[in-house]
Amino acid sequence: MSRLVKKFGGTSLGDMERIKNAAGRVKAARDAGHEVAVAVSAMAGVTDQLIALCDQASVLCDAAEFDTVVSTGEQVSAGLFAIVLRDMGVPARSFTGWQVPIHTSPEHGTAQISGIDATALEERLAAREVPVVAGFQGIGPDRRVTTIGRGGTDLTAVVLADALGAERCDIYTDVAGVYSADPRVVRRARKIDMISYEEMLEMASVDAKVLQRRAVALAMARQVRIQVLSSFGDGPGTLVVGEDEMVEKEKVSGIAFSRDVAQITLLGVKDQPGVVAALLKPLVEEGINIDLIVQNVSNEEGETDLTLAVKSVDFERTKAALERVREEPGYRDIKSGVGIAKVSVIGLGMRGHAGIAQTMFETLAGKGINIKAITTSDIKISVLIASEYAELAVRALHTAYGLDEGAA
Ligand code: ASP
Ligand code: MG
Repeated sequence: MSRLVKKFGGTSLGDMERIKNAAGRVKAARDAGHEVAVAVSAMAGVTDQLIALCDQASVLCDAAEFDTVVSTGEQVSAGLFAIVLRDMGVPARSFTGWQVPIHTSPEHGTAQISGIDATALEERLAAREVPVVAGFQGIGPDRRVTTIGRGGTDLTAVVLADALGAERCDIYTDVAGVYSADPRVVRRARKIDMISYEEMLEMASVDAKVLQRRAVALAMARQVRIQVLSSFGDGPGTLVVGEDEMVEKEKVSGIAFSRDVAQITLLGVKDQPGVVAALLKPLVEEGINIDLIVQNVSNEEGETDLTLAVKSVDFERTKAALERVREEPGYRDIKSGVGIAKVSVIGLGMRGHAGIAQTMFETLAGKGINIKAITTSDIKISVLIASEYAELAVRALHTAYGLDEGAA
């Protein structure tokens, strides 16, 4: 008998039929002899509706009250899920975040989970019950309800799996697993059977739709095995596991892209110790995430250029922040543009294999796509290109690396 945590997302709980379908999967696992704890998201669309209500209530809505409202979608799901399970003859009870309790930091809307007391959940499991935990929420030091960021139920599920020592955390969603590329873009994308945390982190940093990045990072730190699978089909999903469990390390396991990128180049930056730190400090102060940084070698005048990529939504704030350091430490000129896409080729097996990058550059060249910037890590190569070529690039790369379904 093993212990499992099962997480159901909004689409898997979209209406009562779907909640019954999800509960049926929990019942089946229990009937097969497993202990199961459940984490649930709000029903599809509900969180957005609750946010809209807060916006209507006040343009400057109090953050604690905002969380009080926005966290309720998960409470509804947890209650309904427990009702349905009991109706199926499976003893169950719901828990809100504070009832567990799941402790968090005080930052409403973006709270960090600081600890969990699993005693009550353990008691329910020992009594052969299914605890159904409302995701996305916890309780802050001042005993107010907090939420932990959009898509946060993935994180709740991993925290539960860790605290309960579960053998695996099953994340049910509306796709069959993690794909080698977005199936809406690449029709011949294939489902990946097994992927490492590290690869998944790289995939999720570009495209976080399947699995929240923070949840993957925690799973990696705590060695929680994850399975991403569909709540609508059968068949196994994608296992997200440690590198040691990976039998085959693909040179390229996936192609990821994100479209809403802005590029900013600072020209004529003095090439001296401390200059880059000083130039980027205002961005850190603004809480702007820099997606990519490339610095050139310096020219004869001892000057260099610095290229940054940020999310399009942060573009104006980034430019404003960089204005503050235009004189000191200073740069000669700034060039910027939106409408950029970042395309990344990811694979554990590219470590120590030459030629992976070359294939990428040749493939893009073959399609006449200009590369604006390149960065690499040991398991990822990313390029910035014009946004309108993003899909063409992803398809061409998918084929070039032999990832197309049906290809050898
Ligand atoms: N309901 C929350 C959201 O929409 C949390 C989640 O679904 O994971 O972000
Ligand atoms: Mg989600």
